[in-house]
This record gives sequence, C-alpha cells and structure tokens, in this order.
Amino acid sequence: MNEKYEESFDSSAELVTEPASCEKYRPALEYTFFQELIDNLPYALMTLLGSTVIIIGLKSSWWGWGLAILYAMYSITGVFWIILFLCPYCHLFNTRSCPCGYGRLAARWRAPKDSRLFREKYKKHIPVIVPLWFIPPLTGGIMLIKSFSWLLFLLLIIFILDAFMILPLFARKYGCTHCPQKDACPWMEGKDTI
Ligand code: SF4
Repeated sequence: MNEKYEESFDSSAELVTEPASCEKYRPALEYTFFQELIDNLPYALMTLLGSTVIIIGLKSSWWGWGLAILYAMYSITGVFWIILFLCPYCHLFNTRSCPCGYGRLAARWRAPKDSRLFREKYKKHIPVIVPLWFIPPLTGGIMLIKSFSWLLFLLLIIFILDAFMILPLFARKYGCTHCPQKDACPWMEGKDTI
C-alpha cells in the first residue's frame, strides 16, 4: 500500500472520500460508454446462453422457462450485488477507469468505502455469483446424459467457451490489465497481464 494513499485515511473514519493524488493509483486509462458496453458483452452472453441451455435442456417445458427466468434474474441480481457491495471498496469507484462502468453506477447508491478492505470484500462477495458459471453446465450436462441432443451439446460448448475462456480472458486483457490495484486483487494475483 502506497504511503501517500494510506495517509489519506482518517484513522477515526471508515469512509474514504478521495485517494491521495498519486501517479501509482491514478488510473491510466478511461473508458468510453461504448467500451463499457463491450466489456459487459461476455457476461450478458453468458446469461443469455445459460438461460437458453436451461430452456432447451428442459425441453422448453414451463418449468424450464421458469428456471431460465430465475437464472437470468440471479445473473442480474449478481451484477447489482457486486455494484453495491464490492465496487464501493475499489480504487476505481466513481471513475471512468472501471472497464465495465459498475464503479460509476455504484456511486449513485453507495458512498466510497475503505479501499484497503477491497481484497477481503472481493473474497467475500465474488462467491455469491460463482454458481452462475456452473448451473447451466450442470443442468445441460445431466439432460445430455438423459437424452442427447446436438443443439444442447453445441449450446453447452458455446456457453463453456464464453464463460470459462472468453469472459476471463476479456476481463484480464481488456480491463484488469490497466487496473492500478491488480497487484492487490485476488482475481489477478500471479496472472500474466501482457
Ligand atoms: S473495477 Fe470491478 S470492483 Fe472496481 S469499480 Fe469496476 S466493477 Fe467494481
């Protein structure tokens, strides 16, 4: 932790208003609205594909549709969960340097918090959304074993490619690689960003 940054915290206050002026923590890149939109595409695609896998896997039954809608609602709730409970602890809160735009959205509803707690909050809140990556493969996989379908198989492959390869790669190469706090982030720890 940079000394100047540490000094910007009032020892008696929990909230942090502005980080100290410091090159190390001044984000180098600012994203346009269009770039923020692009950054959100893999997650949106994962939600769409995941819901479709559930619908097709469950033979377009009413409960298949019901579960797919629940999955999509869970995915949207997950976004707001991160915005409300993680972003306030981020150095990129309320800046245009957050690649997906969540940081600016978070500032509408939350005050900035002590960014020294970011790592702890990341480990606490990211697991809330992790099941989104596993519900469709589990549902689709079970249904494939019960009754094989090429359409479901293809959808599953595309979902897995998007959720487990494109989305993490996109996050690392497009966004996190420019993040000034990547060294302190559990997601980026030990990962090559070049
Ligand atoms: S970089 Fe991540 S944690 Fe930081 S404000 Fe953006 S979405 Fe939130």
